Amino acid sequence: MLRVVSIVAALVILSTVLLFPLSARPLPVIEAYMPMYAMAVVLIEGLTAYFFAIQYRFTGWRFMAALSGAYGYVVVMVIFQVIVFPGVFSEMGLLDTGPQSAPWFWVTWHAGFPFFILIALLFYSPRPSPAPQLAVGRYRHLPGIILMLWPVIFGLIVALVVVSLGHRLPELVAGKSYSNIADSLLAPLVIALGLAALAACVYVTRMRDLLGLWLALALLAALGDVVLTLAAIARYSVGWYAARVLSLISSSMVLGFLIWEISGLYRQLLDSHRQLEDRVTYDGLTEAYNRGYFTSHLEKAMVLARQEGVPLSLLMIDADHFKGYNDHQGHQKGDQCLVAIVAAIKKVLRRAGDCVARYGGEEFVVVLPGANAHTAESIATQIHAQIALLQIPRFDGLSAHVTVSIGIATYDGQGGPMDSEDRDRENLAREDMDHEELIRRADAALYRAKHAGRNTSVIFDAA
Ligand code: GH3
Ligand code: MG
Ligand code: MG
Repeated sequence: MLRVVSIVAALVILSTVLLFPLSARPLPVIEAYMPMYAMAVVLIEGLTAYFFAIQYRFTGWRFMAALSGAYGYVVVMVIFQVIVFPGVFSEMGLLDTGPQSAPWFWVTWHAGFPFFILIALLFYSPRPSPAPQLAVGRYRHLPGIILMLWPVIFGLIVALVVVSLGHRLPELVAGKSYSNIADSLLAPLVIALGLAALAACVYVTRMRDLLGLWLALALLAALGDVVLTLAAIARYSVGWYAARVLSLISSSMVLGFLIWEISGLYRQLLDSHRQLEDRVTYDGLTEAYNRGYFTSHLEKAMVLARQEGVPLSLLMIDADHFKGYNDHQGHQKGDQCLVAIVAAIKKVLRRAGDCVARYGGEEFVVVLPGANAHTAESIATQIHAQIALLQIPRFDGLSAHVTVSIGIATYDGQGGPMDSEDRDRENLAREDMDHEELIRRADAALYRAKHAGRNTSVIFDAA
């Protein structure tokens, strides 16, 4: 970034220096140049003011509010300058203000912009963290709003004064020549303000902030604009045209940076969104789905199974004597063991709809859409085998390696459990079979697997 800024800065300085001696050389009058240029400046500076205002709104950073004000001021000045500029909207300019108002608007614009940047720099502080500053109080935004609005109001007052003085304004332009500006005290005043703003920007922001860097570049280009305009002496000369180009460069710098920054924020937003989505979907330790995701997934999978009339099985898997494992091996080893168990379970699940989730502590659930009790039992057996392959040792004498117990419950896709032979004896009506009931059944089966001596699977049986 620093390299880009340096190259543009070098180009700005080089073009100003090279064109300086040629400035006064007249070029053909292209009247469309001025309105096109003014429209571009109004749009660019207006957007810049808007983006700064938004940044203030979301960060509470007053520097942003003050910068927004400075750019808003320029918009007011440019609009008035182009309204009164001869040959744009009418031969002599609108509002009948006479030929002096346009150069006066140029002076107030180019003196006012660095002045308001100087004011803004008084409110500079390092960029606040991206989190919105939740300042309290009813009038917390009042200082920011004042910083944003007063340059605009000031600009309107200046415009009112210039327009109402009209023909009585001190003479700055005669024909196409505005040598009076260059010869009067106005020229050193405008240049001094531009230099002061540039120096202050470099000093205050120390260019640590990218915004400070681009703002400094914008101020440099604005200074080049002023120098060439003054050296040109007359409109439609080399210096005058070149100065307008520099002025456009000056306005685009900060807007370009803001747009670049917003694109970055957009990418960050997507990244954080993805991270948040992961956080609400996955379990942080084992990277299995978490309980919240499991519940909604099971609910939807059951609706689908009912619609298609196909079975769905649920495995409830619980590590055996895990408290003892933790006590002997430590919690960290326990965590590693849980990760290994999930990896082993995942090896067995091959179909797209199958999923494993962490139900809690050392309990996991596996959803098997399309699987009847027989298939589910075979998958449970494979899970036992995979976990046995892990050969995670435990030295508490309860067993040689870590094992799990599995409870199996199946939904037949018809509104009742498939493996129940005598559905009438069920205390549950067929249409009441929902995901909670399926979980309850898998849990009951797991309880029986534990009582059967662990390291085994049991299919739920209503009896
Ligand atoms: P059982 O065979 O009857 O299931 O015995 P158990 O000791 O595994 O059962 P219990 O539910 O009483 O204990 C579960 C233990 O799992 C308690 C806790 O120490 C351990 N545990 C739960 N969550 C975690 C975890 O995230 N990491 C670790 N390391 N241990 C956990
Ligand atoms: Mg356990
Ligand atoms: Mg448990």
